[in-house]
Amino acid sequence: MLNIVLFGPPGAGKGTQSEKLIQKYGLAHLSTGDIFRANIKGGTELGTLAKSYIDKGQLVPDEVTIGMLESELKKHDGAKGFIFDGFPRTSAQAEALDALLAKMNTEITMMLALEVEEEELRKRLLLRGKDSGRADDQNPEIIQNRINVYNNETTPVKHFYTKQNKYKGIQGIGEIDFIFEALCKAIDN
Ligand code: ADP
Repeated sequence: MLNIVLFGPPGAGKGTQSEKLIQKYGLAHLSTGDIFRANIKGGTELGTLAKSYIDKGQLVPDEVTIGMLESELKKHDGAKGFIFDGFPRTSAQAEALDALLAKMNTEITMMLALEVEEEELRKRLLLRGKDSGRADDQNPEIIQNRINVYNNETTPVKHFYTKQNKYKGIQGIGEIDFIFEALCKAIDN
């Protein structure tokens, strides 16, 4: 199986590149942000809970997110591989993911990390807020909170995969197709 963690701060382009990667490599796409938003739209209990965190720019608690990811993984029995987009976002999530994949007799192949500096992220997120209507993209304070949470809680996940020799940084600024090519090169090597 080809199992990729697509990593990067909010607004780095994970969703955009995931769409292209799943098409090219025939992978299943697991975006925890998308799953939460679908639950919010559907008015589920999980959605209501997730919304209370997302609206403040905080992380949804690990036990909730990990439980949700586990049941989503089961829905894709027989997949050629996965793109994990927006997960893992904490060290506890990374450890849980390793354990879940081990139970399936597989593992993470590599982490591809899109690198984009903060100023550019703030610009992109505000722009996306105008187009998408995502509430968490419309308020500069919430955006800053998400960037801070990324720096404090999510950056350690990089070290988790570096220790396993699975980390690859990719420049996330430039043409979408150019970044996509760099990602494909890293995968194909
Ligand atoms: P972005 O990458 O632009 O921040 P996402 O769509 O990945 O957007 O996530 C939106 C929000 O959903 C996050 O700010 C967070 O509140 C919540 N979320 C998504 N994935 C996770 C996760 N793995 N753990 C905890 N919370 C998450």
